[in-house]
Amino acid sequence: MGIEIHCPKCKDETLLRREPVYEGFKKTGEQLFCAACGHQFDDESELVFAASAPRPVIFTDNDRPVTPAVFSAEDDLRNCRHCRHFVVNPFTQRCAMFEREVEATDCCDAFEKIPEDKTSGDKKDANPLAKLLG
Ligand SMILES: [Zn+2]
Repeated sequence: MGIEIHCPKCKDETLLRREPVYEGFKKTGEQLFCAACGHQFDDESELVFAASAPRPVIFTDNDRPVTPAVFSAEDDLRNCRHCRHFVVNPFTQRCAMFEREVEATDCCDAFEKIPEDKTSGDKKDANPLAKLLG
């Protein structure tokens, strides 16, 4: 397993070569070399890691929190309850488009926003009148 580095000597992307330093039989440290030109690094802080070198990945894509769509503001506006096809009666909430039961928080691709000027009596909404009257 090589660690990719930028060698300041040969100005190339190369691999880091580590060689253990022994004092007798005791390992006292490591020496760091450029695998290409043999340049010795005095200290690990001298190393410039190559951009392509894999970094320790703590979080993978799989660990990303999955935000439920219903909680995002944009999707909330596309919920069935904001859709012109959404029909509420005392027993069920239905989609007039697909003629099936839906939940107010459902999202669907056929969403159509309720027109602003919708004044038909099947929606209880006192606000437009209040706005007109100031
Ligand atoms: Zn080098």
